[in-house]
Amino acid sequence: MTISQAHKRYEFKRQLEEMRRKTGKGTELISLYIPYDKLISDVTAQLRAEHGQAANIKSKSTRTNVQSALESVLARLSYYNKPPERGFVIFCGKLELGGHRTTLDTIIIEPPEPITSYKYHCDSSFYLEPLEYMLVEQKTFGLLAVDRREATVGLLRGKVIEARKRMTSTVPGKQRQGGQSAKRFQQLRLIAIHDFYKKIGNGASEIFLSVDHKDFEGVLIGGPSPTKEEFFEGEFLHHELQKKIIGLFDVAYTDESGLHELVDAASDALQDLDVIKQKKIMQRFMQELVSDGGLVAYGDQQVRENLAMGAVGTLLISEDLRQVRADIRCQNCDYTRKDTREYGSYDFEEKCPLCSSDLKIVDTVDVVDELTELCDQMGTGVEFISTDFEEGDQLMRAFGGIAAILRYNAGV
Ligand code: ZN
Repeated sequence: MTISQAHKRYEFKRQLEEMRRKTGKGTELISLYIPYDKLISDVTAQLRAEHGQAANIKSKSTRTNVQSALESVLARLSYYNKPPERGFVIFCGKLELGGHRTTLDTIIIEPPEPITSYKYHCDSSFYLEPLEYMLVEQKTFGLLAVDRREATVGLLRGKVIEARKRMTSTVPGKQRQGGQSAKRFQQLRLIAIHDFYKKIGNGASEIFLSVDHKDFEGVLIGGPSPTKEEFFEGEFLHHELQKKIIGLFDVAYTDESGLHELVDAASDALQDLDVIKQKKIMQRFMQELVSDGGLVAYGDQQVRENLAMGAVGTLLISEDLRQVRADIRCQNCDYTRKDTREYGSYDFEEKCPLCSSDLKIVDTVDVVDELTELCDQMGTGVEFISTDFEEGDQLMRAFGGIAAILRYNAGV
C-alpha cells in the first residue's frame, strides 16, 4: 500500500466510525446504496413510492421524519444525471445530537470500491455493512491444493476464491500389477510422483507470477500429509514464490472445494499477517527505545522536530489517534502559534503573551492528514498501527499515538 492509499483507507475508516455513532429515535434513518449503472430515475421512482407508503406509519413523528428524509434525498438526487463512477451511498435522517436536540442530516459517501448492488434500507441506525466490507484489504494469495492424484491452483482476491487450473496425475496406485518387480514398480511410482509435482509447480508458478507482485501476498498450500510437505520440501515452485509460502494446511479435498477448505483452514494465519507486520515494526521501535542512543522519537512535539530535520525513517501512527493541529492567532497583534489538540476540544480561552488580547483558533487540520502529507512530500514511510495488540495499544497509551524510527540521531 502506498501512503496515500493507506491514508485514504484511514479516512474512510474514520468516516464509517462517525456514521456508526449516529442514531435516530425510531425506524427513520435511510441508507441508500446506488451502483454506478443504476438509473437515477428508477431510484427516484422507488423513493416516491416509499414516500407514499410512509403515510401508513402509525407514529406521527416517525412518519414525518421518514417523509422529510425521503424528500431531502430526492432533492439531493435531482443534482445527479447519473451516479459517480463507483456509485454512491446516501445516508439521511433526523439524528440525535443529545440533550433532546435533533437535526436532519444528509451525508453522501463515494466509496473507495464500487457499490455492486442497489439497496434501500430504513432503520434506527445506518446500514454500513457493505462499506465496512470494503475495509477488508483486497490482497491476493496463491492457493494450491495438492495430493498425488490431483491438484488445483487458484487465487484468493479479497474474499473471492477463483479456481484457475486443475491437474491430474497418472501416478499408479500403491498396488502393483502382476509381472512387475516390486522394486521397479516403486521406482516408476516415485518418478511419476516427482513428474507430477514438477508439473504442478510449473503450472502454479505461471499463474501466481502473472499477478502483479506488489499485490501478491503469498502462497497457501493445502493437502493431506505427507504430500504437501513433500511438495514444499522439494521446492517445486519458482524460487521467488517458494520464499513467499505462508504455510501448509491440512485439507481433505484437492478439487475446487479444496481451495475453499484451504482458505478456511488458513483464515487465522491470514488475519494475523497484518498484525504480524505491525508487531514487527513496534518491536523494532521498542528495541531501539531501550538501546543506548536508540534511533527513536515519540510524542507529537519530538516527532515533529525530527520530521522537520528529515531524520524520520518511518512514522508510526496509531489508528486510534484523533487529534487536530490548531492554528492559533492573536486578535490584536501578530502573535501566532500551532497546537495539537484532541478532536472536538476547541473551547479555548487564553490571552496573548505579547499584548494580552484574546487568542483564537482560526483553523484546524486533522493531525493524521497533516503528517501523512508531510511524509509524502519528504518520502518518509508511514505505518498505521492498530491497538488490537499489546505493543500497538502501548503506542496509543504510552507514546501519545505518534512515534518514529529515525534514520539518524538529529539530537532534538
Ligand atoms: Zn497579541
